[in-house]
Amino acid sequence: SQIKISCESLAGFPSMLRSPGHAPQPIVSRHVAVIGAGAAGLVTARELRREGHSVVVFERGDQVGGTWVYTQNVESDPIGVEPTRTRVHSSLYDSLRTNIPREAMGFRDYPFVPKDDPDRDPRRFPGHREVLMYLQDFTREFRIDELVRFETEVVRVRLAEEEEEEKWKIKSKQRSMGLELELELDEIFDAVVVCNGHFTQPRVAYIPGINDWPGKQMHSHNYRDPEPFRDQVVVLIGNSVSAFDISWELAGVAKEVHIAARTVIDGTFGKQPAYDNMWLHPMIKDVCEDGSVNFLDGSIVIANIILHCTGYEYHFPFLETNGIVTVDDNRVGPLYNHIFPPALAPRLSFVGLLWKAIPFPMFELQSKWIGGVLSNRFTLPSQEEMMEDVEAFYSSLETFGTPKRYTHCLGDNLVEYNNWLASQCGCPAFEDWRMQMFLVTIKSKLAHLESYRDEWEAQHLVLQAYEDFIKHTS
Ligand code: FAD
Repeated sequence: SQIKISCESLAGFPSMLRSPGHAPQPIVSRHVAVIGAGAAGLVTARELRREGHSVVVFERGDQVGGTWVYTQNVESDPIGVEPTRTRVHSSLYDSLRTNIPREAMGFRDYPFVPKDDPDRDPRRFPGHREVLMYLQDFTREFRIDELVRFETEVVRVRLAEEEEEEKWKIKSKQRSMGLELELELDEIFDAVVVCNGHFTQPRVAYIPGINDWPGKQMHSHNYRDPEPFRDQVVVLIGNSVSAFDISWELAGVAKEVHIAARTVIDGTFGKQPAYDNMWLHPMIKDVCEDGSVNFLDGSIVIANIILHCTGYEYHFPFLETNGIVTVDDNRVGPLYNHIFPPALAPRLSFVGLLWKAIPFPMFELQSKWIGGVLSNRFTLPSQEEMMEDVEAFYSSLETFGTPKRYTHCLGDNLVEYNNWLASQCGCPAFEDWRMQMFLVTIKSKLAHLESYRDEWEAQHLVLQAYEDFIKHTS
């Protein structure tokens, strides 16, 4: 779908920088809370500190890396809807390899290049452990761990009404040295940057009749390896990268794998030629007490398990903004350029909400911009101008018939958006080789879903990337 990022200023500067009447503000240093020490929180901490702010990173877990901290643990409710379930942050499965080549995936000024170390994974599309190690290297290199409070969960963020200036009050709970003891703390910050990730709260497909269906259900958040599916008839809902990764892994052990997908290339329904136990169907119509799963094209399967590979929901259980920021059908809004809620800017911001993106370098640009706006080095448009911009963006989505839940899908606007951020920050534009590597990957993924990670042919792009890296690695 065509999505328009509506910035009147896509090719230039935001209105306030151009408009008279906005006198430059003195450069200031703020006390900023960053929630989360995944890739977004780490680079945000680095950028904010570089900009001269004092930074505290709150991290619920006991190490950096967020999503990339793989665990065998799964939640107590396999479908992830029971509110009192035990929670697990990461959604990684054991066999996961990156779906973006490492050169394109890494931060712009800290290239994700192979290490000369037998313990590391040198592949262009490495396994998840290598990404975690890269983030650990990044943390060490920039001494970010000294800013992080581990095992400290932010449980409440609200405007501190008792303060004269607009500030935030953060309540956190810190587990003490692995003991059951919890230390509860209330603190005041000038600004909050939310980097809590958005691949943890499962989004589940609605299936008529599911309450009487006798089989099991699971969300891919709790999928780790194919063993529990041995000899089972599995219906897998979804057609994202993970859905396809998981489906072919399942095909190796399950009796049958039936994929239910909303959008597929015409003519690809039915038995999949490369497999003797995999079928592609349209969406599920309903399910029945006898164990049957009925698809919209009339096909029927008696299945043991439904695996929802249906994505995730944005979830900010700690955030209280008196209704200023809401999550509605997976739209977090209103947000100016997916970052600042106009009424609370610049004191509240979000990094990393966009998907169909190249996340790490985008986090880097978003956080540079936030840092500069917080210090007054960069200027935002007025609240009204930002709000107009957001409304224009929402109406452009409606014009294109884009569902609300795709509000934060970057897709076709990846280059425009990143270049716009780069221009705001005075950084070089998004590298052409990076975008080309991303596009080559998408194309080869469509052609060779199972082997694209091991068949890289665009060597010229790799050479361009390494030429570019010299300035950061030499
Ligand atoms: P996260 O990594 O989720 O980090 C959020 C952090 O916030 C966590 O450490 C969490 O513990 C902490 N936190 C949350 N709530 C609180 C709280 N209340 N208090 C304190 N701390 C809190 N991206 C790529 O670039 N390449 C890939 O190949 C790729 N593959 C992916 C495959 C899967 C299956 C998934 C799920 C994602 C993949 N991604 C990939 C996207 C990936 O999520 C991003 O690259 C990136 O790691 C997200 O970083 P983040 O910091 O936004 O969130």
